[in-house]
Amino acid sequence: MVAKVISGREVAETILTTDLKNKVIELNKKNIKPKLVVILVGDMKASASYVAQKEKFAIKAGIQSDVMRFESSVTESEILEKIDNINSDKNIHGVIVQLPLPDHIDSRVIIDAIDPAKDADGFHAINVGRNSIGGDLLKKTFTPCTPLGCYLMLKQHISDLKGMHAVIIGRSNIVGKPMAQLLLEESCTVSIVHSKTKNIEEMTRQGDIVVAAVGRPLMVKKDWIKPGAVVIDVGINRIDDAETGKTKLVGDVDYEGVSEVASAITPVPGGVGPMTIACLLKNTVDAANRQAE
Ligand code: NAP
Repeated sequence: MVAKVISGREVAETILTTDLKNKVIELNKKNIKPKLVVILVGDMKASASYVAQKEKFAIKAGIQSDVMRFESSVTESEILEKIDNINSDKNIHGVIVQLPLPDHIDSRVIIDAIDPAKDADGFHAINVGRNSIGGDLLKKTFTPCTPLGCYLMLKQHISDLKGMHAVIIGRSNIVGKPMAQLLLEESCTVSIVHSKTKNIEEMTRQGDIVVAAVGRPLMVKKDWIKPGAVVIDVGINRIDDAETGKTKLVGDVDYEGVSEVASAITPVPGGVGPMTIACLLKNTVDAANRQAE
């Protein structure tokens, strides 16, 4: 079997240039210009390049985006003051704080200071609770962008996920746990494995769907995967490339090997990454629409 490649880049492009763009045009008619603000602390290279990509995608959908930059020595109260201003600014519809923050700042305090109605990352405790309860509350929440992106790719590939066994590797608050909630909502049977799980391969081999969100380059091998399973690779890892002598990005999944047994797989780069940004902008447009109601 040669796996079908699920191109997140293509799905994201469609979301940005059709769905979101049309919604932005409708909002503009009401004199509303959806705007996202990104709070960026310090000068981490990975964060800066991710933020630059967000700005590029926002332009495609006609969404305004602004970056508020702080030195890494900024205090918690200085950021809280800025968030207070953003919360009361009617021209800003979504805000996110680029993580990780420096150690002297408590990211939970910062995230929970954001108005839940502007929480485009879906990390505020209120939105986490709504995602966990599910049902009608999903219409009022913002779902974290990475799992939402994975979910939309899965739904495009398999419209009915009911009864499928999804094995998620990783239990972080930003990927693993919300991913599990989304798939439970679709009536999947969900298993979450993590660093303390024994015999991980035995678990993943049972998955009709495997989502890898670990941060370990090429960890998931061909023999970890049931023939015909759908594999979503969230990992972004930079490793040395012996062929070129430079570095390259790889996922948590051994793409070459796993492609021989899976029925479908997301590539790295070009899979979950672009979908995460598209979903951030989707949340911003949803926020603008809800604030207009
Ligand atoms: P994280 O907070 O570090 O969580 C990693 C999870 O993997 C933890 O639950 C950890 O288990 C588990 N884990 C670590 N080593 C393991 C092992 N050997 N076997 C099994 N489980 C193991 O990471 P994250 O934020 O969820 O991100 C995961 C990966 O996705 C990273 O590569 C990150 O860069 C990438 N990512 C990509 C996007 C995107 O847009 N494409 C967005 C977010 C993250 P414990 O809980 O037991 O420690």
